[in-house]
Amino acid sequence: MLSAERIMQRCAALAQHSELAGGLTRVFLSPEARAANEKVLGWMREAGMQAKLDAIGNVAGRYEGSRPGLACLMLGSHLDTVRDAGKYDGMLGVITAIECVSALSAGNRKLPFAIEVIGFGDEEGVRFGTTLLGSRAVAGIFDREVLNMKDAGGVTMADALRDAGLPPEGISTVARKKGEVLAYAELHIEQGPVLEAEGLAVGVVTAINGFSRLRVTLRGTAGHAGTVPMNLRRDALAGAAECVLATERIARSHPEVVGTVGRIEAKPGAINVIPGEVMFTVDVRAPQDPLRNATVDAIRAHIQKVSRERKLDCHIETLQEFGVTACAPRLMEQMERAVARQGFRVRRLPSGAGHDGMALGAISEICMLFVRCKGGISHSPLESISEADAAAGAKVLFDFIEHFQT
Ligand SMILES: [Zn+2]
Repeated sequence: MLSAERIMQRCAALAQHSELAGGLTRVFLSPEARAANEKVLGWMREAGMQAKLDAIGNVAGRYEGSRPGLACLMLGSHLDTVRDAGKYDGMLGVITAIECVSALSAGNRKLPFAIEVIGFGDEEGVRFGTTLLGSRAVAGIFDREVLNMKDAGGVTMADALRDAGLPPEGISTVARKKGEVLAYAELHIEQGPVLEAEGLAVGVVTAINGFSRLRVTLRGTAGHAGTVPMNLRRDALAGAAECVLATERIARSHPEVVGTVGRIEAKPGAINVIPGEVMFTVDVRAPQDPLRNATVDAIRAHIQKVSRERKLDCHIETLQEFGVTACAPRLMEQMERAVARQGFRVRRLPSGAGHDGMALGAISEICMLFVRCKGGISHSPLESISEADAAAGAKVLFDFIEHFQT
């Protein structure tokens, strides 16, 4: 029997493992993450799985099929959080997948494929500033260069892994080969308002939007705010302000594109000094790669134009780029049949947020099921879902697993 009550209780129980008193923050390889991992390992074993912590710090459980060693249907999501997070982003997908395996194992049911459930150790990228570490390792696309990246305390990722008893040399052992994973299916909260607006508990994801991230540095000349006349200034912050507004205007010119300047720093940062140097970031997302590339090109061109006009030196760096990850039509159809069989209207929608499936797409076809969240809010303590919707998600995921065609 699937228990939505238990799913909700477990989401609440994991939220207790937090470095933030009175809120939830749990980052990659932290003591709180280790404690949460132990809890999840226990639940997996209780559900009849063999479970272990893998070499990149993912919690990995396996439920054998009708004979040992069969290729698997992989389910999962992430166990790390952003700062001051909600209880469901990531965790709901892991806990619901365990609940489904538990229901199979209680009925002593074996399927013609194995099921693996993975609680990825890092999806959000909060600690080291680079995302999808757990799922990249599983997909065999882990970039070893990132092992040298440091957290805010100056600890390298390699040392953090060693401290957790995970020698980085072992990371390659986590990689699955093509053919070992029949499909990857992830249940996740929607993180947007569409399902709520349409009165639907669940939705079938069509694709995970691609993203581009830039870091822009504009250099002008710092100077005295009282003595340098306006026509002789090279004010980097005034130039950046034009670029921020241009980013918004260019992104707004297409309904499916979003563009955000989320960080800006001006130096030297004093009330009486003309800003000589400004760094800001740009995040662009779109459901088609050519559309995203054209948007980024337009933003770059505008930043360069502003720099020329204002005689600023301009440096634009691409921090990260990820193309669209399409969900496999055959898996979407299977998920839609599960949605319909469970009595819900089928609604397709794209994902504006990134997910572990972006990495898993390198070795497997993927699909996703979204569960409605209150107000479309995520990455916040206000993140909330109803027990009825947790039940709906679990029923649909279980139905999908039961009927999964390899
Ligand atoms: Zn997430």
